[in-house]
Amino acid sequence: MANVESFDLDHTRVHAPYIRLAGVKTTPRGDHISKYDLRLLQPNQGAIDPAALHTLEHLLAGYLRDYLPTVVDVSPMGCRTGLYMAVIGEPDEQGVLGAFQAALQDTASHEWPIPGVSELECGNYRDHDLAQARHLARAALEQGLKVQETVLIQR
Ligand SMILES: [Zn+2]
Repeated sequence: MANVESFDLDHTRVHAPYIRLAGVKTTPRGDHISKYDLRLLQPNQGAIDPAALHTLEHLLAGYLRDYLPTVVDVSPMGCRTGLYMAVIGEPDEQGVLGAFQAALQDTASHEWPIPGVSELECGNYRDHDLAQARHLARAALEQGLKVQETVLIQR
């Protein structure tokens, strides 16, 4: 099976909440696509409720694009401790940190409705929790976000 970069990260040596450059791919035409780890909870010490994570996905999908127009995708992590973001190019880490903080600020004060929440637009539109999503965004901002270096597992 192909190697997956995130399985090489030592999850015991990171300090959430943070943003981390997880990798950069170069396309056949020479463009770069950067993947960021946007971590809200400390790995293996908790997990975001699925409904709240779903709401965070909907809100951050829009708010992150407000600050980083070249965002390709924002998706929840299966471990439910954060989200991944793919973006065209190589935005500097401080810029991504600022964008994530601003998007979390917007999320923390977001009022109904949640964008994209209807049977037409979403695959599980009943499964949302705005109050908890707002709380998680506020909590991460209060803890203070930083740029996390990648610490590889020593094998
Ligand atoms: Zn949805």
